[in-house]
Amino acid sequence: MIENHQIYLDYQATTPIDPAVLQHMIERWTSYGANPSSKHYAGRKAYEDLEQDRLKIARLLNVKPSELIFTSGATESINILLKGLAFGLKQKGNHIITSSIEHKAVLETCSYLENHGFDVSYIKVGTDGVVDLFKLEKEIRAETTIIAIHHANNEIGTIQPIDEIAKIASENGIHFFSDTVQSIGKIEVNTSILDSFCVSAHKMYGPMGCGLLCVKDRWVNSIVRQTHGGSQERSLRPGTHNIPGIAGLAFSLALSMETMNYEQSVITKFRDNIVSSFKNSLDGIVYHGTLSNRLPGNINFSIPGISSELLIKSLSDEIAFSAGSACTSDSNQPSHVIKALGVSNDLANGAVRISLGRFTNKNQIETFVKRFIEKVNEIKEIINF
Ligand code: PLP
Repeated sequence: MIENHQIYLDYQATTPIDPAVLQHMIERWTSYGANPSSKHYAGRKAYEDLEQDRLKIARLLNVKPSELIFTSGATESINILLKGLAFGLKQKGNHIITSSIEHKAVLETCSYLENHGFDVSYIKVGTDGVVDLFKLEKEIRAETTIIAIHHANNEIGTIQPIDEIAKIASENGIHFFSDTVQSIGKIEVNTSILDSFCVSAHKMYGPMGCGLLCVKDRWVNSIVRQTHGGSQERSLRPGTHNIPGIAGLAFSLALSMETMNYEQSVITKFRDNIVSSFKNSLDGIVYHGTLSNRLPGNINFSIPGISSELLIKSLSDEIAFSAGSACTSDSNQPSHVIKALGVSNDLANGAVRISLGRFTNKNQIETFVKRFIEKVNEIKEIINF
């Protein structure tokens, strides 16, 4: 699947497309080839397919079909929701609460809102990488309109207490948005407690450039539209629908939910094997975030004195892994997530994220562990020489 036989351990950046998803997309793409907004026969057929997919996704996510807004992915969904709702609820207040370890799609949108008269509180996390509920409650004011806290972290995989956060938000009449990109299709998500959330197809073996925003009906009218054009997707996301992408999203979501329990149990064993092999061979390894309350396929660690850049480059022909979020990989700054755990700059510069997925197998794990340990020892020898 991945060219040049490289072992792919970067599933949190993107998941390779599942061949079954691709096949389904091709069939859908080539079936009518019409715009679902067109009123002729082919257009009506494309519309029926679109609405069937919407219904399928709604059932899988336990929401109403009318609550789904198809988008190009999570970044767009987050922008539509956070900006649209912040401006829509401005009469009530101008305060937003988020966490310091959100994805840049949330943090940059919050920063934009700060430049437009909003006040944003960034809740800190402990060394475990989990949001402190006590600190969160203390930040609530009469003017607070939105709490935006993700479910599973994209760098360290830690899982946030969204049930408790939803309860706090609801008791205070505050909208609770959760970025569930890394959790849906991987772990159980109780969507009934969320006012809004987002999904990205390319994080669950579907196509890149397709996702959705789910907003519960009672909040939709409070969202000020951010993009202007046609009336598709309740006018919140105008533009011609991505019919093959949405078909791929529906198919990949169904497949991920069907295989989730088995897949995650296998992945957990692989992840635990890596941790126990490293324990015996890599002195001083430091794991970032709690190892117990996190996504099955994630580990994030540093080897003191060795930068992640060096490790990634020296193994890049054989193994694909990363230093953290793909969206910030151009920056030379240490990850804001790792820094938020209170880790020193030196150690943060060494943070390596390994993320496993559907196509990971035992041989790959054994080869990865062997080559990684050999490479660390080689680098240590050179450094100490
Ligand atoms: N939120 C999280 C937690 C992510 O991991 C990502 C992608 O890495 C995004 C948002 C952005 O998703 P997309 O690529 O669909 O815009």
